[in-house]
Amino acid sequence: MLRKLILPALIMIHAHTVAFAVEGMWVPLWLDSLNIKDMQEKGLRLSAGDIYNINQSSLKDAVVIFGGGCTGAIISQEGLLITNHHCGDSRIQAHSTIENNLLENGFWALNREDELPNPGLTAAFLVSIEDVTGPVLEHVSEFMDAAERDHLISTNILDIIDEITSDSHYHAEIKPFFFGNQYLLFLYEIFRDVRLVGAPPESIGNFGGNTDNWVWPRHSGDFSLFRIYADQYNSPAEYSPDNIPYRTATHLPLSLRGVKEGDFTMVIGYPGNTDEYILSEELRLIVEQCLPAKIQIRDLKMKLLENEMNTSPEARLRYSIPYYNLSNAWKKWTGVINEIAHARAIDEKIMVEQQFVQWTRLVGEEKPQYSGIMEHLSEFYDRYGPLYAAYDIGSELLNGLETLDLVNLILNGIYQLPGAAGESEKEILQQLISSIHSFYKSNPVHFDMDLLPYYLRIYYENTVADFQPGFYNQINTRFKGDYRAFVNDIYERSLITDTVRLFRLLQRSPDRIVRRIHDDPFYQLYSQFSRKFTQQVYVELDSLSFEKDRLYRIYLTGLMEMDTGKIYYPDANSTMRIAYGSVEGYEPADAVEYRYYTTLEGVFGKENPEIQDYIVPPSLKAAYAAGNYEKYAFDHQVPVCFTASNHTSGGNSGSPVLNAQGHLIGINFDRNWEGTMSDYAYNPEVCRNISLDIRYVLFILDKVANAHAILDELTIIE
Ligand code: ASP
Repeated sequence: MLRKLILPALIMIHAHTVAFAVEGMWVPLWLDSLNIKDMQEKGLRLSAGDIYNINQSSLKDAVVIFGGGCTGAIISQEGLLITNHHCGDSRIQAHSTIENNLLENGFWALNREDELPNPGLTAAFLVSIEDVTGPVLEHVSEFMDAAERDHLISTNILDIIDEITSDSHYHAEIKPFFFGNQYLLFLYEIFRDVRLVGAPPESIGNFGGNTDNWVWPRHSGDFSLFRIYADQYNSPAEYSPDNIPYRTATHLPLSLRGVKEGDFTMVIGYPGNTDEYILSEELRLIVEQCLPAKIQIRDLKMKLLENEMNTSPEARLRYSIPYYNLSNAWKKWTGVINEIAHARAIDEKIMVEQQFVQWTRLVGEEKPQYSGIMEHLSEFYDRYGPLYAAYDIGSELLNGLETLDLVNLILNGIYQLPGAAGESEKEILQQLISSIHSFYKSNPVHFDMDLLPYYLRIYYENTVADFQPGFYNQINTRFKGDYRAFVNDIYERSLITDTVRLFRLLQRSPDRIVRRIHDDPFYQLYSQFSRKFTQQVYVELDSLSFEKDRLYRIYLTGLMEMDTGKIYYPDANSTMRIAYGSVEGYEPADAVEYRYYTTLEGVFGKENPEIQDYIVPPSLKAAYAAGNYEKYAFDHQVPVCFTASNHTSGGNSGSPVLNAQGHLIGINFDRNWEGTMSDYAYNPEVCRNISLDIRYVLFILDKVANAHAILDELTIIE
C-alpha cells in the first residue's frame, strides 16, 4: 500500500528533473493547436492564451523587436526594457567620448532627465498575427509562370497591407512560411523614442569578449537597459522632451527563485533566419565553399582592425563595435563548419533525401506531384550553386570595402552638380568636401589598399568565369596574375583614393569633375564589379529563387505527408517565435561533461589584467570582496549564466527566458560551440542556448551600480 502511495510522487519528481530538448521555433498563433499540450506536459503552467492573446494582455506584449535585429523584454510598467549589452553597444558607443567613455565605464541614469535619446532606435510591439494565406494566394496557381506568380502575390500583399493600415498607425508585414505554403500578417506598433537607461562597463557586459563568444562556460553580464517613451496619449511619437515613459500593457516579473536542471524554460523572441530544410547539396556548398571564403575575407580586415585599435584609445573606442560585428559571425562560421562535420549533418540530410525518394516511388501513382522532385532539385542546384557562391562571397567582399561607400558619397554629391548654379554649386562642393573629411575620420579607408588584392583573388578562386568582371582578363594578362601590382596601378592613377588630388579636382568645373570621376580607374573597377554583380548575378539568382521556393514547397509538403508523426516548424524569418526546452548542461565529447551554470567565482578564475577580454572592473571586484550576495546567491555563490535546450538563433539576442510560470529567469544572449550549427540542423544532445541569469543582473544593479531607483521599478519574485 505504502509503495503504491509513494510511487506516483517519485515519478512526479522524476518527470520534473529529467531534462528534455525540443527542436523548433514555434509561431504564437499556432501554439494552441500544435504545441501547448506538449509544453504543459513538460511543465508549463500557462495556457496558450497567456502567451499569445489579442483580446487581453499576454506575454507577447512584454517582448519587443529591439532596433534592427535583436529582442527586448519589458520589465516595468513604465516602459523599461532589458536587452543584451551587445544589442545596445552601438548606442552606448555613440554617447561615448574619450573623456566620458560610457562603453568603458558603464552608465546609469540617476533619474528620467538623465536618460539618453537614441535617434533612429525603435522598439516594436506585436499587436496581432493573422493567417492571410487565402487572400495572398487569390487567383494564384502553382502552374503559373514563376515571375507572374510572384508579381500577383506581391500585388495581393500590397493590397492587403494597404487595407489594414489605411486608417491606423500600425505597421503591417506579410511573411511567407514553409516557402510560401502559408502567409501570415504581422501587425506592429513601433515606438521611436527609446532612451538609454543603463549599462554595465564593457568589462562586465562583454566579459570574455571574442575569446569566449559562442563558447560555454560563459561569464558575461550581457545586458543593457532602455526605456520606451510615448506621447501624452501613450502612443508612439518621434523624440520630444515632452514625451513620457510608455505605460505598458504588461511587464515581466523577475524571479529570484533561480533555475535547476530539468526546469521547463521558454524563450520568446525574434530569431532572424534559419535554413533547416535545405538539401544536403546546399549545406555542402555553404560549409565547404561559402563560409570558408567569407572567413578568409574577414580574417585580414579583423587583423588590420586589431592593429589599428592598439594604436590609441580613440581608435579602440571607434572600432571596437565594428570589430565585434565582424568577429561575431566570423567565429560562428568556424563553429558551423566544424560542428556540421562533427555531427555528420550532411549525411543525415542525405539519409532523409534517400528515404524521401523511396517513399515517392512507393506512393508514385497516388501522389504523382512528388515523383522526380529530387531530380529536379538536383538539376536546379547545378545552376543555383555557382550563382549563390558568387552572390554570397561577392556581397561579403563588397561590404568589406570602405572605399565603395566613399565612391557612393562622391557620386551622390557630384550628381547634384549639373543644373546647380553659382552659390548652390559651391555649397554642394563644400558639403561634399566636409563629408569626405568626416568619412575619412570614421572609416578605415586606408585598409582597402591591402584588402583589395586579397579580396579580388578570393572572389576569383571561388567563382566561375561567367561571373567574373572583365578586369580579371587584365589581371591575368597584363599583370600576370599579380593582384597587388594590379591594385597598386589603380591606386597610382586614381583620384578617388588620393584626397589631395581629389580635393584639387573638386575645384574644377562640374562637367570636368563628373567626367574625371567616371574615367577614374577605381570607379571603373567598382562599376564593372557592380554591373556584373547587380545586373547579372543578383538578377539571375533572384529569378531562380522563385523556382527554388516552388520546388521546396513541393518537397516540404511531401516530407510532411511522409512523416505524419512529426510536427514541422517554419524556418525563422524575423517574426515572433517561441522555443521551449529545459535547463540542462551537455556532454560535448567522451568523458567531458558541462554543468549548466556558471558563477561569479568563474569570473575571477578567468580574470587577467593583461588580457583585454578578461579585465574585471574595480566596481565588480569590490562587490565580490564585500561578499554580501544575499538573495542573489545560490549555494553561497552568485550565478552568472546558464544553458538550456531552447532552439534559438541570431535575433534571439536579448530575448526573455521564462520559467513555467512565465517569470523572467534570464536573458538569452548566445549559443554554445556545438549549437552554432542549429540554424541548419538542431542536435538536441548538444545544442544549447546561453542565457544571463537574471539574479546576476539584479546583483549588478544592486551591489555594483547602486541603481536603486531602477530596482524599485521592477516586480521581483523572491
Ligand atoms: N549571439 C547571437 C546574436 O547575436 C544569438 C544567437 O545567435 O544565438 O543574436
